Amino acid sequence: MIRSLEQIETGEKRVFVRADFNVPLNADGSISDATRIEAALPTLRSLKEQGARLIVASHLGRPKGEVNRKFSLLPVAEYLTEALLDDVIFPENCVGAAVVRLSKDLKAGSVMLLENLRFHPGETENDPLFSEKLASLGDVYINEAFGTLHRAHASTVGMVSHFKEKGMGYLVEKELQELGKLVDAPARPFWAIIGGAKVADKIGLIDRLLDKVDGIALGGGLAYTFLKAQGHEIGRSRLEEEKLHIAGRILERARAKDVQILLPTDHRVAAVLSLEAEATISEGIAVPPDQIGLDIGPQTAAHYAAVLGAAGTIFWNGPLGYFENDAFAEGTREVARAVAESDAYSVIGGGDSVAALKSLGMEQDVSHISTGGGASLAFLEGRELPGLKALEEID
Ligand code: AMP
Repeated sequence: MIRSLEQIETGEKRVFVRADFNVPLNADGSISDATRIEAALPTLRSLKEQGARLIVASHLGRPKGEVNRKFSLLPVAEYLTEALLDDVIFPENCVGAAVVRLSKDLKAGSVMLLENLRFHPGETENDPLFSEKLASLGDVYINEAFGTLHRAHASTVGMVSHFKEKGMGYLVEKELQELGKLVDAPARPFWAIIGGAKVADKIGLIDRLLDKVDGIALGGGLAYTFLKAQGHEIGRSRLEEEKLHIAGRILERARAKDVQILLPTDHRVAAVLSLEAEATISEGIAVPPDQIGLDIGPQTAAHYAAVLGAAGTIFWNGPLGYFENDAFAEGTREVARAVAESDAYSVIGGGDSVAALKSLGMEQDVSHISTGGGASLAFLEGRELPGLKALEEID
């Protein structure tokens, strides 16, 4: 059993909240998208109202165990100060005697945001000593960082065993509920759309999805290894030679299980992968020898849209083209539109797909946008999430 926020009486205790404030920053250090902070606010507000003294922690970027102010959580502290209408205390570190003292001096209902957890190598190494130091900052532990549940780090696993009172925040609870709908009796037909750069990153997911879905529409760089495995001409498109065999096996397994796999039947191509490249539409499924397939073509997009229009459940992860160049963003946009317009229960995971939806102003039109790319994939693959297991209590 994992306790939800409702099942925990915090009173004025010190509550350690592991949040996911790994937000994208602009070149000037300002926050470019605060979705992840906003997502944690209901939990923080509710705890504050109960009078809890909040110690909030997160990582930001990959500072690799060293102090690097480029990855400081200061912009997040400033954002929280405005959002919570309260001066958020922001020490320069996340552990140490001074921070422990600050945690004990916090007034009821006030908030301290710790500096980036990953300034210490002990965080990603799940170091016992670092875990103990973090644990000394709170009396109750709440995990509200859905996007990090698939990682066994000090703040998600190591420190948790030090707490008798622990549980999950609203965001984690909602994610589990929503993603759970994809696993428990989803409305049929259930279609997955999987895009992105590499077969290597998505192969586990595609393989597991074969047991759950009625069809998978593939796009992005990874589609070309599958097309090649079917014997199609892919020109100079992205090919993972060493994954050809497994791509072939997946296609065979899908046939045996009667799961449809859709691959692009036309493409937007260019001679080079560059931000200035202009798109040409290929004639049919073959990519010309000197060209690179960089987006699904209009015929493919129309086909995928028709299939999604009749779906009962949709899960989408990964862009269908090299969307950083607008000339190759059309496939991703078309699919975003189809998902938004469909009556299906739809879940989107992964930042790029979410960005495409937002650029169309359609993020309200899907059933659920998952905040955790890797964690939502791990959940769907049926892998154990270490951060979730750490919260389990024996009934
Ligand atoms: P991922 O991080 O695996 O979701 O992949 C996202 C990246 O894949 C983006 O940077 C896209 O530009 C890239 N991508 C998508 N389609 C293609 C393609 N056909 N060729 C090369 N890169 C692609």
